[in-house]
Amino acid sequence: MADATVDRRRLVPRTDVVLDDPRLAGALTRLGRPAVKAVVTAVQQRARAGELDPAGVVDAVVDALPGTAGGLRAVLNATGVVLHTNLGRAALSPAALDAIAAAGAHTDVELDLATGRRARRGRTALAALAAAVPAAGAVHVVNNGAAALVLAATALSAGREIVVSRGELVEIGDGFRLPDLLESTGARLREVGTTNRTSRADYLAAVGPDTGFILKVHPSNFVVRGFTRSVGVAELTGLGTPVVADIGSGLLAPDPLLPDEPDAATTLRAGADLVIASGDKLLGGPQCGLLLGAADLIEQLRRHPLARALRVDKLTLAALQATLTGPETPTWQALRYDPAALRVRTEKVAAALGAEVVPSVAVVGGGGAPELELPSWAISAPADRAEPLRRGSTPVVGRVERGRLLLDLRCISVDDDAALIAAVRSAGDR
Ligand SMILES: *Cc1c(COP(=O)(O)O)cnc(C)c1O
Repeated sequence: MADATVDRRRLVPRTDVVLDDPRLAGALTRLGRPAVKAVVTAVQQRARAGELDPAGVVDAVVDALPGTAGGLRAVLNATGVVLHTNLGRAALSPAALDAIAAAGAHTDVELDLATGRRARRGRTALAALAAAVPAAGAVHVVNNGAAALVLAATALSAGREIVVSRGELVEIGDGFRLPDLLESTGARLREVGTTNRTSRADYLAAVGPDTGFILKVHPSNFVVRGFTRSVGVAELTGLGTPVVADIGSGLLAPDPLLPDEPDAATTLRAGADLVIASGDKLLGGPQCGLLLGAADLIEQLRRHPLARALRVDKLTLAALQATLTGPETPTWQALRYDPAALRVRTEKVAAALGAEVVPSVAVVGGGGAPELELPSWAISAPADRAEPLRRGSTPVVGRVERGRLLLDLRCISVDDDAALIAAVRSAGDR
């Protein structure tokens, strides 16, 4: 036994020999030597442990090499959840990906090439956002929706009160709660109303000289039903204090597909002084926080020292502009996918796999519209395939429902069908 182990160890090719193999030359340039070496070391260990034929080390390294040096693995989202928080919410459009690649080099992000002088950072992306929401007097972009809230609370209400309904003190996920986030800025919360019912009179009684602003928060991930009452933005204007509306999802204009989802344009027209939203939910763009509203308020936020700590990267600005001005995003392609066309495509993929097609229900996900069900179709596979599919060289994440693994193709590009078929086949072999 000991001898066999020693023999096997001797047969495992040395690191420099593996690294010199012509099959790895491209990867060395693309990923860098340390990244490739880490994969080689891991594969050698498997060979020494007897999990792998020593003669197959280079092949196994080629198989195990990551697609990029970025660490994050590209995943096929077969969950049917369009904006899956654990999968990074919105998938960016090819236009946004190109824009990011170009912005990764030196860029004119803060330089006017005509005059050679400093220019406003991200001015073209900001102009694109302003053009998309003409009702906004001015716009600003920070790192995410939470950062936008923190900036507004700090700049407009630190040491003062934020008047907010008890029905809108929400947890946004992973244990983060809006009330804690707001109080971390030094603002005090003045809670009004009850969990299910808040009236205009409740706000009126609470607003006073100490008020920084009234906050309206869209309960984007739950609904309250039954004996309920809430107050719209329009009813809260004219109380002598700004109305800040956190609409969550980042819908810029109304969309008939999502009739219950608030949008920035309508909320501003209703009288909100400031609208806050995320960029990577229903807008389908990069993670960022959008602030739209009255020019004087936006200027106050932009000039606050904290704004510098929340400022967005050039990659984000580039992706945001491409999202705003470019072709339909993967998010909206998935949301608008015609179920009949999806069925035809799913049946084709299922036929290649000898699998069954079943009805499925897709949802918007962490990004909003908690009640909306999108009729969909899925490939049904044995539930025990879930793990090998996640661990394959092209990871596929499906959804286990009633003892079956469902693979909903709605959020996967048609271009990836062949990769999906190969991944399901190889998961079945293991
Ligand atoms: C998602 C959400 C947030 C947090 O936004 P992030 O971009 O995730 O930081 C805040 N408020 C509401 C209503 C949301 O839906």
